[in-house]
Amino acid sequence: MSVDRSWMSRRIVRGLLTEEFNRGVLAFLDFSFSNQDFVWDSKIKCPCSRCKLRAFGTRSEVRLHLLKKGFTPYYTLWDQHGERRERRRAAVEQPDPLSLSNPFVDLVMDVGGFDFDTGEHDETADEYDIARRCRHRSTTIICS
Ligand SMILES: [Zn+2]
Repeated sequence: MSVDRSWMSRRIVRGLLTEEFNRGVLAFLDFSFSNQDFVWDSKIKCPCSRCKLRAFGTRSEVRLHLLKKGFTPYYTLWDQHGERRERRRAAVEQPDPLSLSNPFVDLVMDVGGFDFDTGEHDETADEYDIARRCRHRSTTIICS
């Protein structure tokens, strides 16, 4: 992916909120709220370091959280807000440090039980999406 998301980790420089981060947050909000499938009751999953995508917030709430708390680490592919993974790069080239520390996840992936990307996406789009998110957050979600 060619999109530069490095600004997500540059929230504060020399004690000040950066304009770069502020602009990035606005871009994130514009992106998220343009994907209606990922907006529930005018709210989106809040990716701040406190909510960690487990809570929902309005545009202004999420903006405030992100400016105050920053993004939760490693959320550089915004797949919980409608962004599509182009291929399995996140799993292959950028291993999620959280799942690396979880022996159960490694075991399951070793036996091939998580190879969702080869299924027919048209008929099972919803299941595919759930499975994909499940894998993305494999340390916290129960997959059955
Ligand atoms: Zn939050």
